[in-house]
Amino acid sequence: MTPGKAFKRVALGLGLVGPMRATTPGEAFLVAIAPILEAVGPLPHARLDTDGESTAPKKQKTRMLKCECATCGYTVRTARKWLALAGAPLCPIEDHGQMEHEPLDDDEGEGDDEGGG
Ligand SMILES: [Zn+2]
Repeated sequence: MTPGKAFKRVALGLGLVGPMRATTPGEAFLVAIAPILEAVGPLPHARLDTDGESTAPKKQKTRMLKCECATCGYTVRTARKWLALAGAPLCPIEDHGQMEHEPLDDDEGEGDDEGGG
């Protein structure tokens, strides 16, 4: 196997497929893995053998938005998806009604696999 082929296999495994948008992929890759390397510390070689699964700590995907009662100031945080689905929660104090909440920003395109919660 040629070194070029080996690199391509590795690149494919890392998900570096399709058109590369970064003008300096090498640097972009280093920037991308820097926090991962920092998080896991020295890498025992076996840790890399995760069959496609990342050894990086799970990224916190769920965006928690603050809701606040306009009447008494009661605050609570809830997931953006609940605000989108059900709206802001109600203040537990009677007659205060629905809380106000931070605007939902929709430009994060990675909310598709929120399995946990
Ligand atoms: Zn209230």
